Amino acid sequence: MNVLLISCYELGHQPFGVASAGAHLLAGGRHQVECLDLAVETLDEAKVRRADFVGISTPMHTAIRLGVKAGEMARGLNPQCHICYFGLYASLNEDYLLEGVADSVIGGEFETPLTQHVDRLAENGPPHPGGLSLAELRSPPNLSRQHFLPPARHLLPPLERYARLRTSEGEFRNVGYVEASRGCAHKCRHCPIPAVYEGRLRIVQREVVLADIDNLVHMGAQHINFGDPDFLNGMKHSLWIVREMRSRHPELSFDFTAKIEHLIQHRDAVMELAALGCVFILSAVESVDDRILRYLDKGHTRDDVVAALEITRAADVALRPSLLPFTPWTTLSGYLELLEFVQDHDLVYQLDPVQYSIRLLLPPGSRLLDIPEIQPHVGSLIQEDFVYTWRHPDPG
Ligand code: SF4
Repeated sequence: MNVLLISCYELGHQPFGVASAGAHLLAGGRHQVECLDLAVETLDEAKVRRADFVGISTPMHTAIRLGVKAGEMARGLNPQCHICYFGLYASLNEDYLLEGVADSVIGGEFETPLTQHVDRLAENGPPHPGGLSLAELRSPPNLSRQHFLPPARHLLPPLERYARLRTSEGEFRNVGYVEASRGCAHKCRHCPIPAVYEGRLRIVQREVVLADIDNLVHMGAQHINFGDPDFLNGMKHSLWIVREMRSRHPELSFDFTAKIEHLIQHRDAVMELAALGCVFILSAVESVDDRILRYLDKGHTRDDVVAALEITRAADVALRPSLLPFTPWTTLSGYLELLEFVQDHDLVYQLDPVQYSIRLLLPPGSRLLDIPEIQPHVGSLIQEDFVYTWRHPDPG
């Protein structure tokens, strides 16, 4: 089959989802695979017209919003092609997708069911149910353990087309994005990952991650962005990979994401990772209001954020918080306290300005929808926006 894999948005880095899916589809030698990254490329109509199967990657909210438009354009150019959405947001929104432009939806660990699905379509065989949803046949997301393959990076534009790291010395470094795990062992209520993974972690085999890093270095990567939802969920796995990565490529710097609780729990690992070339750590601080942190089930308090800042500063690595300042429970004084916290803890240059403006998203399946404290504020599901509406008690 001629397969076209489309990515629309992955935070400015070279997309992992289509490269990983592409590797699995190419492995059997039965399909021709092309990719399009609409974040840096225009829609190539010739690629769409020759595709029998179009797979659209939806790892995040912006990706699915753009992905539906891409699917509609693909359908207009090639009415016969099979359109499949895969990734985290596809399964959260499968009803809407399957009532509209999608022929199929694959959630969770997508590479194996996607490959099986394309194989079956090529044979005109019956659909393989594991992880695959069709209009007439729904399946839960695939959470079985997969054997991964190094992503097919050659299908994508070069790293120079993507966001680069600017160091404190003003040097620009090409960035390669990798994943050493999927899912998460935690269940923060505002996060879409537990709605699919239900507190489960799925590890990408060490040799696969290292082969991917080797490929990226060969393509010019000078910095590795570990995009795991939480790199310290599998702390030993992550440390082993970084030690081996640095022994192979001593010049590489890197960054990762970890929750505040893990930074405190794994202080020694933070020290070692900093010594191995970590230049910053992203952490979903979200709020410094302990009441809101309890509603979100974040597993940390304001004091814990201060402790994590002390640990990362002692390790000489920057903690870069992400924030969720606008929730139904935010007050004017609470917002001002957040700004004071940023100033008092010398965080102004560690925060991206967009963080001051983030508003809570309530996707279908959000665990926040289950708590009584949100009920007075929540409205209806706007399917085409992929969120429930909510209204602040003081909208003025
Ligand atoms: S720790 Fe991070 S990835 Fe895991 S559930 Fe919480 S917010 Fe989501």
